[in-house]
Amino acid sequence: MRPTGRLHLGHYHGVLANWVKLQHEYPCLFFVADWHALTTAYDDPGTITENAYEMVVDWLAAGIDPTQATIFIQSKVPEHAELHLLLSMMTPLGWLERVPTYKDQQEKLSHKDLTTYGFLGYPLLQAADILIYRADKVPVGEDQVPHIEFTRELARRFNHLYGQEAGFEDKAREAVKKLGNKRAKLYDELRTRYQEQGEEEALAEAHALLNEAQSLSLGDRERLFGWLEGARKMILVEPDALLTASARMPGLDGQKMSKSYGNTIALREDAEVVTKKIRTMQTDPQRMRRTDTGNPEKCPVWDLHQIYSNDEVKQWVQAGCRSAGIGCIECKQPVIDAVLKEQEPMHERAKMYEEDPQLVKNIIADGCEKARKLAQETMRDVREAMGLDYS
Ligand code: SF4
Repeated sequence: MRPTGRLHLGHYHGVLANWVKLQHEYPCLFFVADWHALTTAYDDPGTITENAYEMVVDWLAAGIDPTQATIFIQSKVPEHAELHLLLSMMTPLGWLERVPTYKDQQEKLSHKDLTTYGFLGYPLLQAADILIYRADKVPVGEDQVPHIEFTRELARRFNHLYGQEAGFEDKAREAVKKLGNKRAKLYDELRTRYQEQGEEEALAEAHALLNEAQSLSLGDRERLFGWLEGARKMILVEPDALLTASARMPGLDGQKMSKSYGNTIALREDAEVVTKKIRTMQTDPQRMRRTDTGNPEKCPVWDLHQIYSNDEVKQWVQAGCRSAGIGCIECKQPVIDAVLKEQEPMHERAKMYEEDPQLVKNIIADGCEKARKLAQETMRDVREAMGLDYS
């Protein structure tokens, strides 16, 4: 996530709640994409550091648990930049130019000069961010799927160009033996099923088998991953998009919640401010007086009820609004209560980090160290494959 500073409830419902869930299901890496911020804000970098810390406090407040997930800052793991550079050597320009967001963003941010090398290359940096951890799943919304597809193509091209190895087949056969009799037999069966019948399930099962096999060296693992599909080592892993259902969080004016619309409720907003913001929200413009009937479909408060209220409350709103049985202030109260309730544990979790910013710095330092170890392993293999191993 780019360091945008304090996050709002749109970020929570759209992204963070999902991250909190994922951290229990997978080993997760979440990072502050500070270099990415520079691809568009290169002329105004002033607040990146401050924004990064504020944002990480919000992650922690939302429930990201640093004992389960790795939290780090992109620029503190310089291997991302090295992989980006090396990948840039083999990335056709056309691949970058046809990434759909390239033109979209240029049009959207037309007040900025984005005819820069960094902006064109940002999907490549993003690909390096993923590939450097050999991540097999990336949680993204629909609009980011082309970026994942681009990353997959790059990994494939890289493995094709640099995964060749003299005596590959013999080495692969030797590696199979190291799996032990039972696993070796299963690996061969799965490989045959995938290669002869194209069974994706067999491929997935074989991947799981290799991931569980502790006894393999990194090189043998790459060979066996590669041998499943062809005759090359698989140095970089093709990731899959882990699609996140896009939860559209309405803002205070009914449009999508976004800083640029000025319609947000911050994740750690004071209770008084939250109450005031919701109390003063626009309602159905036809409902001028308490005695006027209204239509929830024309009211942004109703959009918030959709997120926060159960069926019973929603029926109460529908009936009460249409018959003027309830007033707008009354109608807003359950939303205020629900938002405050949602934020309560966030305030509690954030408290110790707000009081002692060093704690946040320590979490990030630990995360950077862990991430760096993983990144260095990949870079060792990448350098070797590209003929840059001077050890
Ligand atoms: Fe909106 Fe509720 Fe007022 Fe109806 S009663 S206009 S839904 S705030």
